[in-house]
Amino acid sequence: MIKILRVGVDGTDKEINAAEYGAAPAGDDYLIIGHESFGRVEAVGPNVTELKTGDYVSLTVRRPGSSIYDQIGTYDMTTDDTYFERGINLRHGFLTEYVVDDPEYIIRVPENLKEVGVLMEPMSVAQKAIEQAYRIQQRLRVWKPKRAAVLGASTLGLLSTLVLRLRGLDLTTFGNTMLPSLNSQLLEQIGGRYISTKEMSLTQASTKYGPFDLILEGTGYSPLVFEAMNVLAKNGVLAMVSVTGGSRQLEIPSDKINLGFVLGNKVAFGSVNANREYFENGVKDLTAAELQYPGWLKRLLTHPVRGLENYRKMMRILTEAKDSIKVYCEVAAIESSQKSAAVIQSSA
Ligand code: BGC
Ligand code: ZN
Repeated sequence: MIKILRVGVDGTDKEINAAEYGAAPAGDDYLIIGHESFGRVEAVGPNVTELKTGDYVSLTVRRPGSSIYDQIGTYDMTTDDTYFERGINLRHGFLTEYVVDDPEYIIRVPENLKEVGVLMEPMSVAQKAIEQAYRIQQRLRVWKPKRAAVLGASTLGLLSTLVLRLRGLDLTTFGNTMLPSLNSQLLEQIGGRYISTKEMSLTQASTKYGPFDLILEGTGYSPLVFEAMNVLAKNGVLAMVSVTGGSRQLEIPSDKINLGFVLGNKVAFGSVNANREYFENGVKDLTAAELQYPGWLKRLLTHPVRGLENYRKMMRILTEAKDSIKVYCEVAAIESSQKSAAVIQSSA
């Protein structure tokens, strides 16, 4: 049993709130939202060895269905048509006081990361997309990517940029805010480059800073996928991570894109969700980030909203605030280290 401390919200919650995406569990006419979790273990069953009371944790989102991928712990790769996601689809989420789950879905977060632990889930999504790109590129025997582009400069784009910077790539990240913005400052702080698409298109930027060996598209604006396909480097890889619930149509230069893909041996792939492997890798990169860029992660937490009762305010900020990076609910206070030391003492 986990006491929930913080829950982040994102574009998916916006869509659920607008009744455009997601579904309530069978038999319920409501859905408890919240899939970006951070909390503390409150109690464990007698057979639990992985976790103990007081541990800080985050939970994965998807729960297994019936395909072979679900049965081997990779439910993020399910081939079932129906998928179960806590806080999104057919399962209640984490925007509540307490949740109970199986240790398989609970990842320990070091106490040193407790101030930024609410970033675990978006970090896991970035980890999966990037790790999958690297695995796909094993087809090349030698792949030393130099330049990468990340489309989208909000939480997922910033964390993806961070992960790729930690791997030593030259990064160009695209957003739609004018300069100077917090997003651009944050990118510069980790040695990235921010481009406002209002000033320069991906195609223009590619001649200046590309060609891009890896492109990650996470803006939610699907036409960019095809522009990215067009500018992707030879032997390059494009990761698509935007969940676009709409029905937008577009005319594209299909011969040109197809020819470029064939003659350039390019790959494009989709990536959704994340299993515990990617949460565990996320812990490592969050730790590396705190050492290499101290205080950087905390700057992403722009809009805290205190208390579950202020959910209306939280959804309003999520839909309206132009300058927000991470909007999240402070469900309960993160205990001070003095207090948790006292707990450890008294239980010893
Ligand atoms: C969540 C993922 C989820 C996806 C599709 C995203 O917002 O972060 O965990 O798989 O939506 O529902
Ligand atoms: Zn999400």
